[in-house]
Amino acid sequence: MTALLITDVLIAGGGPCGLMLANELGRRGIRCLLVDPKPGTAFNPQANATQARTMEHFRHLGFAPEIRAKGLPSDHPTDIAYLTRFSGAELARLRLPTAAAAPQVIKNLSGSWSAAELPHRVSQKYVEVSLRQHAQQRPSVDIRYGWQLKSFTDTGSGVEALVQAIDDTEPLAVRAAYLVGADGARSFVRSQLGIAWGGATGFKRNFMGGKMLAVYLKAPDFYARNPNDRAWMYVVVNPQLRAFIMSVDGVDEFAFHIQMNDDAATEALTEADARRLFAQAYGQDIGIEILSMATWLAGHALVAERFQKGRIFLGGDAVHLFTPTGGLGYNTAVEDAVNLGWKLAAVLKGQAPAALLDSYELERKPLAVRNTTYARQLADSIGLFDAAPELEDDTPAGAQARAAASAYLNGHVRREFNIPGITFGGRYDGSPLIVPDGSTPPPDQPNHYVPSACPGGRPPHAWLDDGRSLYDSFNFEWTLLVLGPEVPDARRFEQAAQQMGLDLKVARHASAELATLYEAPLVLIRPDQIVAWRGPDATRATEVLARAIGNG
Ligand SMILES: Cc1cc2nc3c(=O)[nH]c(=O)nc-3n(C[C@H](O)[C@H](O)[C@H](O)COP(=O)(O)OP(=O)(O)OC[C@H]3O[C@@H](n4cnc5c(N)ncnc54)[C@H](O)[C@@H]3O)c2cc1C
Repeated sequence: MTALLITDVLIAGGGPCGLMLANELGRRGIRCLLVDPKPGTAFNPQANATQARTMEHFRHLGFAPEIRAKGLPSDHPTDIAYLTRFSGAELARLRLPTAAAAPQVIKNLSGSWSAAELPHRVSQKYVEVSLRQHAQQRPSVDIRYGWQLKSFTDTGSGVEALVQAIDDTEPLAVRAAYLVGADGARSFVRSQLGIAWGGATGFKRNFMGGKMLAVYLKAPDFYARNPNDRAWMYVVVNPQLRAFIMSVDGVDEFAFHIQMNDDAATEALTEADARRLFAQAYGQDIGIEILSMATWLAGHALVAERFQKGRIFLGGDAVHLFTPTGGLGYNTAVEDAVNLGWKLAAVLKGQAPAALLDSYELERKPLAVRNTTYARQLADSIGLFDAAPELEDDTPAGAQARAAASAYLNGHVRREFNIPGITFGGRYDGSPLIVPDGSTPPPDQPNHYVPSACPGGRPPHAWLDDGRSLYDSFNFEWTLLVLGPEVPDARRFEQAAQQMGLDLKVARHASAELATLYEAPLVLIRPDQIVAWRGPDATRATEVLARAIGNG
């Protein structure tokens, strides 16, 4: 007889989306089983940019400093540089703080960058290790790498599935209340459900459009033989080839990506070809060791038509596929998990109706469309730029071409890598969970973020007099901010929360500046750090809380 395992949530996929969901559920004591056929977390570097909002979510879970300590050495620059070759003439550069400086730098920024965290340049492979370790510390979380989801059925009252260890023939039957397919771009769950992709794909560009070769390599002499200042990411702009490379460990490991032709020959590339291409991109042969190589396709801006069918949910690359400009794929995947985690937990604990879960697709699909659109615009900005044929010539025409490229690329690098508007400006306007107050949300602009407590968006950030982040005064679940020197009576919120079984903490801050920043003395913050409501007093407490948990 097939053995049976009973759990609350079955998660297919142990990438960033599945692992983050295991953290969100585990932290709330919800039982979950995560299966992934790989032997462990990612070997390849994959994503390399953790956006500031993602860092704020890691901070909420308590491990942002641990993540910031990973990847590059703490004193390694995180600059992005554009060059004719990796060791060639520098054309443009955006200087960014080191991991050691970031926590101090952010305390002195304001406006678009009023935030608890700056972005962090760290390979996904290191982030996944932390996410896995933290999830595994939760007694309700069962993580099984080397296991695969083989089949599933939504019975209407639950999900019945078969999972199987890769090295075993005997499957294990799983009975769960919900299944989440966080199983990546080729999602088995999505294809079984027959959910189609929407959006667009197949964009052709000189760069970031079409087939790319990815090589994870060791280059011990990369820095020693390079006359340019150190950077985290180097982008080659050259009439002969287009490529980029990210430092993985700040010592000798790198993730190298080069634009290829869309022909079969690309699939047949050998390690010798990869060495030759790397030497061309670097500008000289410095000797490398290849750790892995694979091809991937740039030019997607795809969003699945549905993120949910019955008791089955989809998140991450399973429902949105990006071109990696802007570094948004993994970050959007993490935020899917943050949005879904508290909702699943609230329904499973009987605090909220099942209808709360319908808000997942309503809130996250528009965000996925928005983010893939921004990534596509950024890919056009760099990928449609032509490198002039004389760019490397030691002639007046060459110098002129480099100056023109420099002007363009110095603009582009700021468009792609200074994106507080994309990172912080995502909103859930129109969600049935959000209680509008008639105010107009700030405009959605990629490079500019306007802090606003208009319900539906990220709470404006501030540093408190004692040096803490305002966010550190938030509860893990619901928070009622009580702001300003006048102390409005918040008891109705506490009573209503108690009646609904919600964990709500009142965070009082007497600062008049905070009340001005939030334009209200009372503000309800959701567990995923989104403003659900703001208002002058607590008279509507029951109605507001009911709506925020899907009972509106
Ligand atoms: C070259 C490159 C560079 C990138 N750079 C960035 C960047 O800078 N910033 C950024 O935000 N994003 C970037 N991305 C994208 C990022 O890597 C992905 O968006 C991210 O990994 C998505 O996470 P996920 O958890 O949704 O899916 P994945 O990481 O793909 O994880 C899905 C998991 O599901 C597992 N799985 C598959 N089938 C099953 C099954 N039947 N049962 C159980 N498990 C299954 C897979 O083994 C896999 O581990 C980049 C991607 C590439 C290729």
